[in-house]
Amino acid sequence: MLDELLIYNQAFVQNQEYKQYISAKFPNKKIAILTCMDTRLTELLPAALGLKNGDVKLIKNAGAVISSPFGSVMRSLIVAIYELGVHEILVIGHHDCGMQSLDSANILQKMQNRHISSEKIEFMRSCGVDFEKWLNGFSSVEESVKASVKTIVNHPLIPEDVQVHGLIMHPTTGKIDRVR
Ligand code: ZN
Repeated sequence: MLDELLIYNQAFVQNQEYKQYISAKFPNKKIAILTCMDTRLTELLPAALGLKNGDVKLIKNAGAVISSPFGSVMRSLIVAIYELGVHEILVIGHHDCGMQSLDSANILQKMQNRHISSEKIEFMRSCGVDFEKWLNGFSSVEESVKASVKTIVNHPLIPEDVQVHGLIMHPTTGKIDRVR
C-alpha cells in the first residue's frame, strides 16, 4: 500500500499540486478542533464547515476524548493557544462513533489472539495500567463531548478568554448540533 502512495506522491509534487494548499502555520480562523479519527470525517468535517487548509488546528484521536488533563491532547491545545494564536476550541464528537461500543475485555481478548501473552498484560496491570478504564469507550457521545469541554474549561492552564464549544456531527450528512 505504501508503494502506491509514494508513487502518487511523486506525481503530486512534480505537478505542483501542492500549490493550492500553501498556507501559514498560524490558523486563519484562530480555531482548534478536537475530533474523532473516524475515516468518514476525514474530508467531510472540513467540507461541512467550509474549512480550508490553513484555517484551523485539527487534533484527532479515537473518540475525540481527553483521557488525561495533562496528556497529549491538552498539550496540543495549550501549544495551539499560546504559540499559534488559537482563541476558540471546538470539540466535535459524532454519532455512530466506534468508541461508543468499545469494550476493554474484547480488546484484551484480541490482543491474546495476536499472541500478546497474559504475562505482558499482567505486567502492565502491575505497572498501574487500568485497562478497564484506558480501553473502554463511552456510552453517550453527548456526555463524552460535555466531559471534554468541561476538562478544557476547568483546566488550570487554559485562559478564561478562550471560548470552548461542544458539537456533534452526523457522519453521513455532516449536520452539526450544538451540545454546549
Ligand atoms: Zn468516532
